[in-house]
Formats: sequence, structure tokens, C-alpha cells
Amino acid sequence: MNITIVGTGYVGLVSGTCLADLGHSVHCVDINREKVEMMQKGKVPIYEPQLEEVFLRNIKGGRLFFTTELKEAMKVSNVIFLALPTPPGEDGSADLSYVLNVAEQIGDLMTEYTLIVNKSTVPVGTSEKVKNLIQTKTKFPFDVVSNPEFLREGYAVEDFMKPERVIVGGSSQRAFEIMDRIYLPLTNAGIKMIKMDEKSSELTKYASNSFLATKITFMNEVANYCEKVGADVDKVRFGMGSDERIGNRFLFPGLGYGGSCFPKDVKALIKSGKEVGHNFQILESVEKINQKQKTILIPEVEKYLGGLEGKNIAIWGLAFKENTDDIREAPSLEIIEQLLEKGAKVTAYDSIASDNVKKIWKNKITYADNMYDCIEGADALIIATEWGEFRNPHFNILKEKMKNRAIFDGRNLYDLNELAFHGFYYKSIGRKLIK
Ligand code: NAD
Repeated sequence: MNITIVGTGYVGLVSGTCLADLGHSVHCVDINREKVEMMQKGKVPIYEPQLEEVFLRNIKGGRLFFTTELKEAMKVSNVIFLALPTPPGEDGSADLSYVLNVAEQIGDLMTEYTLIVNKSTVPVGTSEKVKNLIQTKTKFPFDVVSNPEFLREGYAVEDFMKPERVIVGGSSQRAFEIMDRIYLPLTNAGIKMIKMDEKSSELTKYASNSFLATKITFMNEVANYCEKVGADVDKVRFGMGSDERIGNRFLFPGLGYGGSCFPKDVKALIKSGKEVGHNFQILESVEKINQKQKTILIPEVEKYLGGLEGKNIAIWGLAFKENTDDIREAPSLEIIEQLLEKGAKVTAYDSIASDNVKKIWKNKITYADNMYDCIEGADALIIATEWGEFRNPHFNILKEKMKNRAIFDGRNLYDLNELAFHGFYYKSIGRKLIK
């Protein structure tokens, strides 16, 4: 099939590349000219494991194209996926301007039956809004379906190719049949497609992300309580996770959830609820607790050092989680802001995400080229991302290079006994403090 993808961010580029790998001919459209030129030259503009290989294979195979012109793409395809940003507006609601602008353009450009497939995360009722808008623009028949995306950054290609389910929300048989054909290579391999109405589909995405955010937050609350009563959250986590009703995923305590999805989706669901007089009390608490959790280590570092003025603080990890260059709503950024406000000097290291932080804070902090340069002369080290390379450091080098043997670990990477053996002051989340 000929497919157009509008928006080539984490979702659009991965979806487009993977749909091409399933044999479709895919035209990716983005308004960012620089990005499009990069892709036309065979360069992937984001960091995502496995993506480059699939991307190059499909360009070579003549199934994957890039353009800034929606009109050009629509000449060869009448199935259009929207993978556009839906960032939080000032009041927390999802900003639908990107989606509605493109819907309007599609309405103007249509010359035959067109299927609009919305992959962006949007509030309940957006399909209807898009339908009503396009209706005012065209006399040609069309359908709108909701097809929320559940991929995780860092595992996006794998998640797209082997999803636990594909959700399609719609109300037209013709649209469902096209979606069946698009996803046939996956459903043939045993992956289930769950069909429902548009509103339920739109809410499935928000409810899923909000539930996962709640699970993370619940565990962070348990971890903080563990510290007060002398329990070990790792043991509690194993004990809880072995109950199948609970499951062992998303039970890791840490610095709270970040990224481009959970924070904005929780906010948007709270706001959508308010619009119809529904109070998502549980999510309001989740948001509040999560915000506090991101900087929970700062008072600990401050206490240990007797103040932060003039202190050298090293940060390992800037990305909001491992295996991605995404820094949106990353705990590291809030930690750094607070450290700077309190007069500390910050040196940070992240092999993949540093470039994105440099774009916003060129000279505000120092960027190290490797993890050991980063800790040279440091009064304390804060670990903000669980990158693999931080999991087994040479503790002897740390002892040699750091001014103080002090690690504040927001990702619980190390064994308590090992850190005690090496004589570190080691503060992690929900576990015993090693002095
Ligand atoms: P992104 O910010 O990485 O990418 C969006 C892209 O759209 C950018 O390249 C931008 O230049 C482009 N764009 C903006 N306006 C355009 C226009 N008028 N025409 C063409 N292109 C335009 O966003 P993302 O992370 O891929 O997220 C897209 C949507 O998918 C959001 O609704 C998000 O909530 C949802 N989602 C994201 C993830 C994730 O892990 N990132 C997972 C599931 C769902």
C-alpha cells in the first residue's frame, strides 16, 4: 500500500520506517526542512537503537521517501498517518493545533477517498473534531481512525514490529478493512488487533500511560517509606512483582517518570476530566508526587556537603531514561537547575543526550567527554540515568579522581555491600544509606 506519514519524530519516523519494512511504500512528510534533507541523505535525525539499519534498508529498497510537501505525498497515497506533536498547553490540556492544522490541509488537498489515521496521543473526541473540520473543506469521502502508538523510546523498532496489540478505533467498515491490510504482516504473525470505537481507543492510550505513571509513582512512595522504616525496596519489589496480578515491570523506584509522554498525558487526562466535571484525584496526586521525586536527592547532597555553594557536582546521565537521546522532562534537567540555583558548579556526561542539552544550555554547565573525566575533582556524583556504561564502573578510578567518595544514585545501580567495601557514602532510593 502507499502510505503517507506526517511528522517524522520518534513515532512518525519509526512507524514510517517499520511500515516500509512490512512492504508498504511510505512517504514521510515533515515541515522541518533540515531534518528532511538529512533523511534524504540517508541520515537518521534521532537516536533509536536498530532504526538506522531498517531505515537504510528501506531507502535502498525504494520503499521509504522524505519530503516537506504534503501535497506531493498525497498525490501517491490516500492513507495518511498523523504522528504530530500534542504538547501540553499552558493549562495542561493537549495542544491540538498541529493535528488540526494538518487535518485542514488534508481537507484542502484531497482529490479522492482518503483515510486519516491518527497516531498522535489525543484527548477523547479528537477524531470527531478532525472529522468535522475536514468535512468543511472537502466534498470527497473520507474516514478518520484512531490508532494510538504504544512504542517505548529506546525499544521503538522492536515495539512497533512486535507490539503486544494494535488498537484501532473507528466506525467505518471501509476504514477497518484498510487498517487490516496495513497491519496484515503483524496480525498474520499472531499479533492481535483490537477494534473499538474512536473515543474508547483515544482513552485507551491516555489510561494506559496514566496507569503506568501511577505504578511508578506508587513504587516511589513505597521506596521513600522504606527508607523511613528500614525496609529494602529491592526486596519489597521482588516480593510484590512475583505476584502475577501485579507483575514485575514498572516497579523500579527512581527519580520519577519523565519524557515526552507520561508527564503530558497525565496532565492532559486530568484536564480532559475537569472539562466534563470529572476529578481524576489519583492522577493529581501522582503528578504532585512525581514532581517532588525528580529532585529528591538534592537535599541529601546538600546535607552531606553542608551546602552547595561553590561545590563541584558531577552528573552521570542526562536522557530521561537509558537508550534514548530524548531529554524532554528529564529529571536531570530539574536537578541541574536546582544545583545551579544553589550555587553549585555542574559537570555532566551523557554519551548520547549531551548534544540535545547543549542546544538549550550551551555554557550553563560543563560537558565531559567521558564518565571518568566527569567526576574529576567532584564533591559528589549524582546518577540521573540508568545507562549500561554506569552499571559497572571502576570504583578505584572514582576513588582516585573524586574529591569526596560520595554517590547519590537516583537509579539504584549498585550493590550496597560493594559500595560499603569501597568506602563510599552511597545514597540510593528506598535502600539503606551507606556511610
Ligand atoms: P516529535 O516531537 O518527536 O516529532 C514530531 C514531528 O512532527 C517533528 O519532526 C516536527 O517537525 C513534525 N511536525 C510538526 N508540525 C508539522 C507539520 N505541520 N507537518 C509535518 N510535520 C510536522 O513527537 P513524537 O515524540 O514522535 O510524538 C508524536 C505523537 O506521538 C505525540 O502525540 C506523542 O504523544 C505520541 N507518542 C509519542 C511516543 C514517544 O515515545 N515519543 C510514544 C507514543 C505516542
